[in-house]
Amino acid sequence: MDAEATQAGGDTIFGKIIRGEIKTDFLYEDDQCVAFDDIEPQAPVHFLVVPKKPIAKLSDAQDADEKLLGHLMIVARAVAKQKDLSEGFRVVINDGPQGGQEVMHIHVHVMGGRQLSWPPG
Ligand code: IMP
Repeated sequence: MDAEATQAGGDTIFGKIIRGEIKTDFLYEDDQCVAFDDIEPQAPVHFLVVPKKPIAKLSDAQDADEKLLGHLMIVARAVAKQKDLSEGFRVVINDGPQGGQEVMHIHVHVMGGRQLSWPPG
C-alpha cells in the first residue's frame, strides 16, 4: 500500500470528513471522491466535490490526475442534476492565496439556485 492510500484524505478538515472523523452527510460518494454541502453556503445550493486523494491544490495536480479531475466534473454534473439546477450553476476551483483557497485539499465548488453575477470578487 502506498503512502497516499494509507493516509486517505490527507491532513485537512476535508481529510477528516472523508475518513468519517467529522460526521457529514454525503450527497454522493464513490471510491474516488465525495460530495457534501458547504457549511457556509454562498448560494441556495452550494456543495463541494472533493477527491479522496489529498492533492493540496489544482496547481499541484499531476498529468496523471487527468482522469480524476475529469471525474470530479462528471460528479459535479450528476449532483447538480440531483439538486435540480436545471437553470444553470457555477463551478469554481480556488487555487492558492490569491485564488482565495482556504482548505488545502483540492475541491470543486458548485453553486446555483439564484442568478449569479460576474465577475466574482
Ligand atoms: P476554499 O476557500 O475554496 O478553500 O473553500 C473552502 C470551503 O470549505 C468554504 O466554502 C467553506 O465554507 C467550506 N468548509 C470549511 N469547512 C467545512 C466543513 O466542515 N464542512 C463543509 N464545508 C466546509
